[in-house]
Amino acid sequence: MREYSIAAIPADGIGPEVIAAGQTVLASLEMRLGDVKFTFENFNWGSDYYRKHGVMMPSDGLEQLKKFDAIYFGAVGAPNVPDHVTLWGLRLPICQSFDQYANVRPTKILPGITSPLRNCGAGDLDWVIVRENSEGEYSGHGGRAHRGLPEEVGTEVAIFTRVGVTRIMRYAFRLAQSRPRKLLTVVTKSNAQRHGMVMWDEIACEVAEQFPAVTWDKMLVDAMTVRMTLKPRSLDTIVATNLHADILSDLAGALAGSLGVAPTANIDPERRFPSMFEPIHGSAFDIAGKGIANPVAAFWTAAQMLDHLGEREGSSRLMRAVERVTGAGILTPDVGGSATTLDVTEAVCDALHSSNF
Ligand code: NAD
Ligand code: MN
Repeated sequence: MREYSIAAIPADGIGPEVIAAGQTVLASLEMRLGDVKFTFENFNWGSDYYRKHGVMMPSDGLEQLKKFDAIYFGAVGAPNVPDHVTLWGLRLPICQSFDQYANVRPTKILPGITSPLRNCGAGDLDWVIVRENSEGEYSGHGGRAHRGLPEEVGTEVAIFTRVGVTRIMRYAFRLAQSRPRKLLTVVTKSNAQRHGMVMWDEIACEVAEQFPAVTWDKMLVDAMTVRMTLKPRSLDTIVATNLHADILSDLAGALAGSLGVAPTANIDPERRFPSMFEPIHGSAFDIAGKGIANPVAAFWTAAQMLDHLGEREGSSRLMRAVERVTGAGILTPDVGGSATTLDVTEAVCDALHSSNF
């Protein structure tokens, strides 16, 4: 029996709904496979915890998480707590303290799901966005002076280090090399931002020499939104900074039909610490409590988690089950259906158990 201990942090809004759905599906997979066991410990950290204790997680929270094989995360964000408090109080400290510097965000149009792009269907638009996840625009450096006065100044400092850029570039080239098309697009804004961004371009050229099999090109981030929309098939693997990739991957999720299907893996490639798996979407409090959150992103990120743990067969079985369900038109309202979170979850469990699978 292969056993994995997983810390679940469902947190806010629809986070608990989609993480519970993911745990149900993983329990089904466990039964189906027979030789794998997932042991979950659930943590009640998040905005409710913040309202009671004044912090999003206890001071030894990171210490508590270290012993797990992986972290399964929902979303943070509540209407009455500032967004920078929820983000910097829970999600970013985990990513940064555990040096999960590679944020891997696959995009694909799943069967049965309609892309807003004309003439794009299942199989088209097969991308992986690699987001630098440890520094850049989210380094947390900056300040405000003369608060509230007409001469007030706020700075938001983006920090790029040679070590940080080189390691994400290597990760992206290696990933591109492992994919059939061996295609990489390096995104920057090095026309306007002439320091850190120019360093990105230079390091891309250096790293490219070690990966002669990869065909690569450079794009400015603004032009990249146009290319993603008008020439989606020209892209495969994409690497970008923390902020740029954050924005581009929301666009990618929308082009694949909904944010509700887009997953993400926050990976420590050196495996010193647990990696963290979550949907890209936030707490979506506009639909929280209604039972209609799309659980597909939470399922897909669970498949990413299985892959990371070395459970390749479980991962592909889970994705096949998800694709069978979306292909059969069992869809939540965000992707044009009328199914509930529970309907989709039960359908995926049934698909996992069906004998011809
Ligand atoms: P959001 O991703 O929560 O929602 C954007 C839109 O997509 C909403 O209309 C929502 O209903 C829809 N949507 C998202 N996920 C869905 C799903 N699984 N099924 C169906 N529809 C879904 O982004 P937002 O509304 O800008 O932010 C809400 C809160 O979430 C804010 O507090 C924000 O800071 C936070 N947030 C957190 C994370 C995170 O925890 N990683 C990411 C993004 C936003
Ligand atoms: Mn985001």
